[in-house]
Amino acid sequence: MTSYYSAIAERMAGPGREQLVRKLAEYHHGNESLHMHEYIERREPCSYCWLRAGRAMQIVGEHLVAGPLADVLAERARQDAKWGEQNHPDGTKQIMYGCLARDWKYIVEAAAAKGKLTWRHVLLEEVYEALAEDDAAKLRAELVQVAATAVCWIEAIDRRTATEADRG
Ligand SMILES: [Mg+2]
Ligand SMILES: [Zn+2]
Repeated sequence: MTSYYSAIAERMAGPGREQLVRKLAEYHHGNESLHMHEYIERREPCSYCWLRAGRAMQIVGEHLVAGPLADVLAERARQDAKWGEQNHPDGTKQIMYGCLARDWKYIVEAAAAKGKLTWRHVLLEEVYEALAEDDAAKLRAELVQVAATAVCWIEAIDRRTATEADRG
């Protein structure tokens, strides 16, 4: 069913994302804790939830066509083309890398206290934390942090490059 607001949200989300933006609008509408108005008893998402979903998809769409996440997805496609599906053992271990992770945490704290914190410190802290996890769920959570930190670093490089280009 299309309504005035669902059409706006679909246009914000971009072509081919009609199903995704509907799912997100329904999720927002059905989630009372996120909801800020009185139409929650209606099954069809309200104007507020459509617009919020449309804006969220707009942001996601921007990330997918330009910026670090677009580059990460392209690199993943290159990896698949080159190596196919990859399955290796994790090779992580608490008793081997737990100490390293703890030591590195102190090194990072000391560097931060001296005003000498670098991206190398920040990323390696996350990498060592991941290497110290042998539980699959915890390892996965740490790897998400590694990936997010790498993306954060790339964003900082992009900002720096943009500022330098501005100055000419
Ligand atoms: Mg971590
Ligand atoms: Zn709603």
